[in-house]
Amino acid sequence: MFLARTATDVNVVIRHDDLSRDMSRYLAERIRAALRVHVWNNCEVCELRGDERLEEVVVRNVRTDERRSLRATALFVLIGSEPHTRWLEGPVELDERGFIMTGVGLGGAAMFQTSTDGVFAIGDVRSGSVKRVASAVGDGAVAVRLVYEHLVRAGRR
Ligand SMILES: Cc1cc2nc3c(=O)[nH]c(=O)nc-3n(C[C@H](O)[C@H](O)[C@H](O)COP(=O)(O)OP(=O)(O)OC[C@H]3O[C@@H](n4cnc5c(N)ncnc54)[C@H](O)[C@@H]3O)c2cc1C
Repeated sequence: MFLARTATDVNVVIRHDDLSRDMSRYLAERIRAALRVHVWNNCEVCELRGDERLEEVVVRNVRTDERRSLRATALFVLIGSEPHTRWLEGPVELDERGFIMTGVGLGGAAMFQTSTDGVFAIGDVRSGSVKRVASAVGDGAVAVRLVYEHLVRAGRR
């Protein structure tokens, strides 16, 4: 929606057929209603063409294998999310996708506590979090308190 304010056309390529599956419904509805935004369901980018710069993006329908060339001068890639947490593996318990497990067996008061005492995780990187700005900020405010309490318990405050 932001790009559609200035771009002539915005093509959104998604590999499944339900725009609202991975985003807020209100936003999916705004995208569908926007005249300059074109959504290509069940498609993936398979080729980029151009001499000095990007000129065309070729998209392939993953169900029919049909290919279509879209004129484009810029490409913005957003394919899922992968947390950069492998360096924590071992001391800190991660879920199967690499998000940090918190509050395991610790009760509500320690909901941001990881499997290592004194290490807290908040925001998008936390397993099960809602991936929204307001909740990440809220998590942070609570975690500051939890860190403080941890330091008091450890006799360091
Ligand atoms: C395209 C897009 C649109 C979005 N739109 C909305 C929206 O409309 N409304 C909404 O509420 N949310 C939206 N979100 C989600 C929102 O951006 C996130 O929920 C929020 O930014 C999470 O905050 P965070 O602090 O947990 O993580 P981040 O904002 O990702 O911050 C994590 C930071 O940690 C840094 N970092 C990573 N690894 C390390 C390391 N090893 N050492 C030091 N630093 C490190 C990263 O560089 C980054 O700066 C959107 C996200 C995207 C990608």
